[in-house]
Order: sequence, then structure tokens, then C-alpha cells
Amino acid sequence: MNCKNFCNQVSAYIDGLLTPAEKELFEKHCASCAGCAKETAELKNLRLSLLSLKKMPARAGFETSVMAKIESGAGLASFFETFFRAAKAAVLVSLVVFGIIIAFDYFTPAVAQPTASGGSIAALNRYVLQSAAVNMSNEKLVTGR
Ligand SMILES: [Zn+2]
Repeated sequence: MNCKNFCNQVSAYIDGLLTPAEKELFEKHCASCAGCAKETAELKNLRLSLLSLKKMPARAGFETSVMAKIESGAGLASFFETFFRAAKAAVLVSLVVFGIIIAFDYFTPAVAQPTASGGSIAALNRYVLQSAAVNMSNEKLVTGR
């Protein structure tokens, strides 16, 4: 046994749940490892302290009210309420961000478009190049790259 195995088994040891072989390995490790021996002693003392605490009776009807809440699914309803509240907030934030992006795009200067009837190939090329430049600068403003 090593210290990692010890950590996995210390609770079972203190509660008396290890098999005789596991218990023997555990105790062998404690005999050779001061740190694990100290931790075992501390946990044993903690267990004894907890067992010595005075038992307090629950108020009348406590168990019945807890069982009624469990059976009615009140805890589950509260979970879904929380989930949907968070989902609504996420949608709202997304809409605000989307609105900012659309508004930003709307207010950036547009390129004059060539008319469908007139205009030369050179004017069309100029339009395409200007559009690309505006798109690239918009993208740079939005993404920062
Ligand atoms: Zn150890």
C-alpha cells in the first residue's frame, strides 16, 4: 500500500468496512508512515467526537414535510426554473450583442453602388474592390484583427 491507496481507504478503515486482508495492509502502511498514521489517529478522534455529540430531535413534522417536497417534485421544479431563467438571460445577452453588431454595420459608411443599367466594367470592378475593402475594415473593427 502507498499513501494514495491509504487516502482511498481511510474512511472505510475507520468505519470498519475493510476486509481482514485490506485492514492488515492498511495497518502495515500506518506502522511505516508517520503522516498516514497521524491522519488516521485524527480521523478516529473526529469520529469519536461526532459520535459523542448529543442527538437533537427534529421538529415535529420535519420528516413528513421533507418527504412531501421530494414526492411533489418541488426540488426539480426549482431546478428547471433556475435553468430557464439562466437560458433567458443568455438569449437576451445574445440579442443585445447581435443588435450592437447589426447597428455597427448599419452606421459604417457604405460604398456607392453602380446602377444596373449604366456603368462600365471598370466601375463594377471599382465597386467590388471598394466593397471588399469596406468589409475588411468592418471585420477588422469587429474582430480587432
Ligand atoms: Zn502514507
